[in-house]
Amino acid sequence: MIIPKESKLSAEQLKEVISIVEEYNCRVQPIEGHHRTIYAVLGEERETIMVNRILGLDYIDRFDAVDSPFKLMDVHSELANHRIVVGGKMLGEDPFVIAGHCTIDPKNPELFLETAHAVKEAGASAIRGGVWKPRTMPYSFQGDDSSMKILIEAREQTGIPVDTEVMDEHQLNIAVEAGVDILQVGARNALNYSLLKKIGELTADKPIAVLLKRSMGMGPVNEFIAAAEYIAAGGNPDVMLCPRGTAPTMDTYRNHPDESITPLLKEKTWAPVVVDPSHSVGRAKYVPSAALAAMAYGADGVIIETHCQPAKGIGDDPKQSITPKVLEKLIQDINAIWEIRKHYNNRVPQTV
Ligand code: PEP
Ligand code: MN
Repeated sequence: MIIPKESKLSAEQLKEVISIVEEYNCRVQPIEGHHRTIYAVLGEERETIMVNRILGLDYIDRFDAVDSPFKLMDVHSELANHRIVVGGKMLGEDPFVIAGHCTIDPKNPELFLETAHAVKEAGASAIRGGVWKPRTMPYSFQGDDSSMKILIEAREQTGIPVDTEVMDEHQLNIAVEAGVDILQVGARNALNYSLLKKIGELTADKPIAVLLKRSMGMGPVNEFIAAAEYIAAGGNPDVMLCPRGTAPTMDTYRNHPDESITPLLKEKTWAPVVVDPSHSVGRAKYVPSAALAAMAYGADGVIIETHCQPAKGIGDDPKQSITPKVLEKLIQDINAIWEIRKHYNNRVPQTV
């Protein structure tokens, strides 16, 4: 599908486009809409050289293959107008901020509950809290089933949705049974296709959304969208994509920040993008700038590790959690960027 920059191609431009696609045994079929005409390419429309030649024409805005491998997550799929609602908030309508501990300390539930109230007061839309944790070392604290009660208690006390990561079927069953609002699939499991399928199946027709992190080793954005497609194909299309930094390449940041892929994701999928700046840069002092950059790049929201007393945290909290006070200011600034962004069309970047 060829989309011109203007509302339609001139006769001369159309002639030029036709002459290119015919070299690749394709045909052009104009489709006239109310506001603009788009041009379907019939034949093997994914021929890379042809696509690049068309994209090289300065009057062409986009070239989208209609027969996408992403039957459900593609921006042109039947689900293109599908919207995800979590805790009564529609993703894409206002910034969606998830905040809270990396890890819930089962020995100190009050700390988590204090943070839960504080992030709600700061303006967060949902609370994060790791019941189970993927740890590099098998001897580090791995989380505990008993923390699920604390997470659900936080939802009951604050009235806002909760998010936690699941890594296997045992954890998935407990989380679904408890009615967790957002299931997080971590970077390490983003390519665990059996788990992705299972999550799709077990959450189909349930008011549970999935926050799918980008794996550290993921390359092209298609690999990321394909992982989301697994969950959707399993039965739950409520998938948010979460860039969280890829393998480290810089001395100081924990991972290589990748919030800049948001516009690329939005060219291809309708799925909301909720960026994780905490695991990306990995230090509390860098998190606000990374969060604001993510919003400037067009994210629908951010997930930020936040702790009322970071030094008392376990897991990642001591090094990368911001405080609720910082979060409060950050959310105000996120809202300001959200307004500024309205001057631009985020789905198809263009000048004003
Ligand atoms: C987390 O969110 O605490 C976490 C472990 O994230 P990731 O899977 O992105 O490393
Ligand atoms: Mn963490």
